[in-house]
Amino acid sequence: MTNEDHDTFYSKLELRGVTRRDFLKFCGSVAAMVGLTEAAIPQIAAAVEKGSKLAPALWINGGACTGCTESMAQADYPDVATVVLELLSFDYFETIMMAQGEDAEKAKAAVISKGGYVCVFEGTIMRGFDGNALRVAGKPQIEELPELFKNAAAILAVGSCAVDGGWVAARPNPADGIGVMQFCKDEGITTPVINLPTCPVNPEWVVAMVVDVLLLGGLEDLTRFDLDDFGRPKLIFGQSIHDNCPRRGHFENGEFVYEFGSPEEVKNYCLYAMGCKGPQTFTNCPIVRWNKRASWCVESGAPCIGCGSADPLKPGGNWVDVGTPFLNRHKDIRIGDMLTQPPVVGAAVGAAAVAALAIHGLGMKAAGRMDGGAPFEEMKDHDRKKGGGK
Ligand code: SF4
Ligand code: SF4
Repeated sequence: MTNEDHDTFYSKLELRGVTRRDFLKFCGSVAAMVGLTEAAIPQIAAAVEKGSKLAPALWINGGACTGCTESMAQADYPDVATVVLELLSFDYFETIMMAQGEDAEKAKAAVISKGGYVCVFEGTIMRGFDGNALRVAGKPQIEELPELFKNAAAILAVGSCAVDGGWVAARPNPADGIGVMQFCKDEGITTPVINLPTCPVNPEWVVAMVVDVLLLGGLEDLTRFDLDDFGRPKLIFGQSIHDNCPRRGHFENGEFVYEFGSPEEVKNYCLYAMGCKGPQTFTNCPIVRWNKRASWCVESGAPCIGCGSADPLKPGGNWVDVGTPFLNRHKDIRIGDMLTQPPVVGAAVGAAAVAALAIHGLGMKAAGRMDGGAPFEEMKDHDRKKGGGK
């Protein structure tokens, strides 16, 4: 890359309101998310600057609200992730591309027939009504998916819907929605799938993965990704929200919000009693945050509703079926691979984190909010007093 190209690249960024400092900071966060040290920042910056794709990329929508595209597009003003994605230039981006109709279909078909691309898939695969639950270009979408997935070098399933059907596949799931991994398994397709759940997907994770897959490592050895049992990169999904939550101290002290609008809420006490799913949800939301890192769910005062939880190969394992009713205290807490209840864990294991859960369990008991373990809280006391519902 010449100095002139270099300057052109930075002027393009600056025209979109992104400074060099913002860009390098962004490269630092990409490095962290793909498991590299800060020493790799110049390499990442150079790779993105070069912008020359090592493989084409397609962004395909299944049954979706396009919330993940919205999350990427960031309507108010562009952030670094959006600009970088634009520079990487997808060959086909269903929602935001200029081409329409037959032209768009031809562009997609050309890339698919060549193969070797990265397929970013957003939304649920809808098999219901013989595939007519979702028709694209005059035919059921599921007819084109086997070739689309088979010919891809890698698939990024972005957002919970693409991972395990998400809310679209929540009970009673009339459209027979499933995620990409389940579809590939059923069709005998062996293309590697990297799952990035949450509803919507966090744009920084997508860009980190796209930069890594397309520009840094190439597609030859996708085994370098350290994925968990659910196909999620461990660097992003390896720690629970609870572990990194700024309200964790209140949890340990048994200080909880039991009612919105209460003095406890003003004091930013822990939201576990309001249904927070942070203890059993594994994402780095408290670290990477949302909306250009402005805030995230718990910081903005809402309990985590567990949208990062996913079970790609288990029907009914989506975050909506598992987490509703969202504002009720969940009966289980996930520790590692184990789903359990606070007092049970406290009795069985002596680890510090687990002891904290037990202390919390005792706090709940003392507050009269728990009876024999931690069952679903059918109705909160203040609702009952008011004669209201859940
Ligand atoms: S239960 Fe929720 S609000 Fe409380 S510390 Fe854990 S993640 Fe934070
Ligand atoms: S904090 Fe919880 S609800 Fe919010 S985006 Fe992350 S996983 Fe989803």
